[in-house]
Amino acid sequence: MPADQHRQLRELLGAYALDALDPPAVAAVQAHLDGCAGCRAELAEITPVVSELRRVDLSRVASPTTPPADLGERIRERVAHERVLVDAAAARDRRRDAGVRTRRRLLSAAAGLAVVLAALGVGSLLGRASAPAVVAGPAPSASVKIPLESVPVRAAAGLAVDRGAASVIAHTWGVEAKIVATGFTPGQTYRAAFRSADGRLLPAGEFLGTGDKPLTCNLQAALLRPDTAGFLVMDAGGAVVLTADLPVRS
Ligand SMILES: [Zn+2]
Repeated sequence: MPADQHRQLRELLGAYALDALDPPAVAAVQAHLDGCAGCRAELAEITPVVSELRRVDLSRVASPTTPPADLGERIRERVAHERVLVDAAAARDRRRDAGVRTRRRLLSAAAGLAVVLAALGVGSLLGRASAPAVVAGPAPSASVKIPLESVPVRAAAGLAVDRGAASVIAHTWGVEAKIVATGFTPGQTYRAAFRSADGRLLPAGEFLGTGDKPLTCNLQAALLRPDTAGFLVMDAGGAVVLTADLPVRS
């Protein structure tokens, strides 16, 4: 198995331990676990952490309601979103030591749990329920031309945005923004939203800060580009830490 593919499978172990994968992904992980002692060992390390997180956080859920019909789809979408973040962290983490690895695992597991809680309606923001399921994956092939619109981003002190990478894509199903930035407080939950031309805020997902490690985030909302006036990211306290205005297009 190529190293890249193996790494991706390994990054799914946290979500696997949380039962947050859809059946095909579960099958893929299980098939791989059968033949890979390394991943079995990794899973054995993750599982106690995950159980702990699950026990603590789920105990706050008074009475879980019946999961919505599209629960699997939502979880898959959020896990895919999480993978974007985790993959970005992993790519820069080649020389990571054991401490960093454990911490990242913990963050990954916590993010996975947040995904599940959000999908169950426990979290405050779900967002993007109508967006396509796949937000992570290989880059589009060169023959597919997706028009990227670069956007000027204003960020709070302490955040460093890769201005060359900040862009917006007008899809037929909605709008997507990509940001690459460092300086989001590690472990803090940030919420993103698009602003519509008529002043509404549409949730565009959540992510965890990764400190001085560059974070790549793809935000999406079921809002067409001509109706989009901008996007923003809020910290855990609701303060806007990053914002971009988009020129009105018709
Ligand atoms: Zn393996």
